[in-house]
Amino acid sequence: MINEFDTITAISTPPGEGAIGIVRLSGDDAITIADTLYQAGSKNLKDVPSHTIHYGHIRNPKTDEIIDEVMVTIMRAPKTFTKEDVVEINCHGGVVSVNRILQTILQNGARMAEPGEFTKRAFLNGRIDLSQAEAVMDLIRAKTDRAMDVALRQLDGDLSNLIRNIRQIILNTLAEVEVNIDYPEYDDVEEVTTKLLKEKTMEVQGHVEQLLHTAKQGKILREGLETAIIGRPNVGKSSLLNRLIREEKAIVTDIAGTTRDTIEEYVNVNGVPLKLVDTAGIRETDDIVEQIGVERSRKALMEADLILLLINQSETLAEEDKELLHLTQDMNRIILLNKSDLAPQVSVDELAEWSSPENVITTSMLEQTGLDQLEKQISEMFFAGETGEQDATYISNVRHIALLHEAQEALAEVISGIEMDMPVDLVQIDFTRAWELLGEITGDTVQDELLTQLFSQFCLGK
Ligand code: GDP
Ligand code: ZN
Repeated sequence: MINEFDTITAISTPPGEGAIGIVRLSGDDAITIADTLYQAGSKNLKDVPSHTIHYGHIRNPKTDEIIDEVMVTIMRAPKTFTKEDVVEINCHGGVVSVNRILQTILQNGARMAEPGEFTKRAFLNGRIDLSQAEAVMDLIRAKTDRAMDVALRQLDGDLSNLIRNIRQIILNTLAEVEVNIDYPEYDDVEEVTTKLLKEKTMEVQGHVEQLLHTAKQGKILREGLETAIIGRPNVGKSSLLNRLIREEKAIVTDIAGTTRDTIEEYVNVNGVPLKLVDTAGIRETDDIVEQIGVERSRKALMEADLILLLINQSETLAEEDKELLHLTQDMNRIILLNKSDLAPQVSVDELAEWSSPENVITTSMLEQTGLDQLEKQISEMFFAGETGEQDATYISNVRHIALLHEAQEALAEVISGIEMDMPVDLVQIDFTRAWELLGEITGDTVQDELLTQLFSQFCLGK
């Protein structure tokens, strides 16, 4: 195995006051560095067998100061997650201790790992393919069961298989074109070849289009819907939130492996993670309209994927309600006519000026009614007509989406090239480019491979 990597390190446990913390090292010097800091009589970590755990202390070799009592796991390449030497230091002293151990490791020759770098190495060292590496990231970050399913499917290689099938169509076509050019059997070979190319390009376009179609939902499942709960004071915003939370739907997540210092609040609605935005600025304020005037809140509001606007239907519409209705008019918005257990003063009809009736829901946080409908409406809004497709492979990764778009452009070039009567070998270049771009999703693309595969296709076909 060729290994040109330096040794990386990071804290592997979530931030916060956990009982234990784990600092992980990976790379050629992982064991040597750990041994420099480790102290347990005369034991030398360099001599211990692989996949064993050792009790001892971590000591700063420069100051001789003992930092914490630890358990150190030694795992030698290649049977590790990264296929490199891996050391995990389990300490139990909370955040401060974990950080001090990390600092000491950094002072002794390791480098801070970039987000996802352990997984990246697993890929680079051939343990998993690229989309699977990305699935690992998604799994770490998954906020709901449904998001977890999407990632698991990807880890299974579902997406890889879809992409490989599409690429195979391109490859077969290119091989056939090659044959036609090299061994023209008919007079109208140009025409036949062009026709084939166009047909196949359109077929591939269809497949890529379908994958892109799932991208928006995939992104929502993965990253959550940025949701703002707004309404004037006392309409029931906190009650709504509490209802959602009480039904075991609140999830507090940190994005492990990325920004270790952010903790975000998620609520799981029917498998759709709602990420509650700017909770302090918008949700809890006495003067909501004035607050939205504050730029930070306005920005958060405007960037939200979903607005839940509460109105107290037991009172006539206030000027503030109308302002909020107006302000959020063009956004994805669901209006909750709350407090339906009290005598109504506002009707759905009255809101016709601002909203179509299907986006108005009558609720009572007191009697717990209307929440099912709210969930249904959210699914409808973002997964229109596709709620049943639990089996679908969702594209959820920004890099994949970008590559699919680029592939789509290359395919469009093929079509326009054909329509402009460009020579077939020029058109082929764009088709090959689409093949390469798709291969970048799985990390398969290597120019040599194209040649080898083309050749094998060629032999097989003729
Ligand atoms: P917020 O200021 O918008 O967060 O409103 P709260 O959720 O704090 O609710 C304000 C008051 O209205 C509280 O006393 C709630 O119990 C009450 N409330 C909330 N929802 C309902 C409802 O559907 N019906 C009735 N009758 N009272 C409600
Ligand atoms: Zn409140």
